[in-house]
Amino acid sequence: MKCFSILLSLGILAIPRLFAKEPAKVVILKLDDFSSRTEVPTENWQRVVDYIHEHNLTASFGMIGRDIKRATPAFCEWIRGQQESGRIEFWNHGLTHQRVEKDGKKVAEFQEPFAAQVDTLEQTQRLGEEKLGIVFTAFGAPFNAINADTAKALEAVGIKVWLYGYGSAAREGGYTGVLLKRSVNLEKTTSVPDFNFFKKQYLEKNPQSPLVLQGHPHGWSEERFAEFVKIVAFLSEEGYVFMKPSEYAAGK
Ligand SMILES: [Zn+2]
Repeated sequence: MKCFSILLSLGILAIPRLFAKEPAKVVILKLDDFSSRTEVPTENWQRVVDYIHEHNLTASFGMIGRDIKRATPAFCEWIRGQQESGRIEFWNHGLTHQRVEKDGKKVAEFQEPFAAQVDTLEQTQRLGEEKLGIVFTAFGAPFNAINADTAKALEAVGIKVWLYGYGSAAREGGYTGVLLKRSVNLEKTTSVPDFNFFKKQYLEKNPQSPLVLQGHPHGWSEERFAEFVKIVAFLSEEGYVFMKPSEYAAGK
């Protein structure tokens, strides 16, 4: 007992708690628009999935409700298996991923009024639960296009993590979840990862952890994928740990 209290006073018993702390450098891969070729992922997506497993990484994939609707039972099973592997987390990426013309302006799904946003969020949540057996914890808006009602809608539906959430919009809308903000970019333009472009921003901006990196693997040819691999290798050398959005948020 005496020994126990000495260890306690020296702070030694607190050491395991220190190890349980979040790593100093975290990277979260936010890979959008996960898509299939009927019953299996497209070749470009499969290359990314294989790489994640082979290198013991983790990543997160944005799932569009429309694609869950048309997914075959076999493909739903495949998605569930990936989520259960613990290496990939699927998240709510809206229902339609479309822009519609209204009064001469293109309006995205999360630029509609509050009730419509709640509806679109809930429909995708329900599709995830019913067809995939997955409760999506995180959300990212298609085109990252939102309005002042988005934060309120996320709060109303109970979405705990907002990928590329905006601080001011979240505060004004009373959002209480975790914001994972954008700092540097993996892709130079949509679907084009570029190692030199990434490294330049990284060195100039000296971004804070977590790095939340957006990509669109549907358009990653082998050549583009090679740039992604270079970025992953660079971050690993820099001491970054790959985490999933919900895993990171759980430590907050
Ligand atoms: Zn998207």
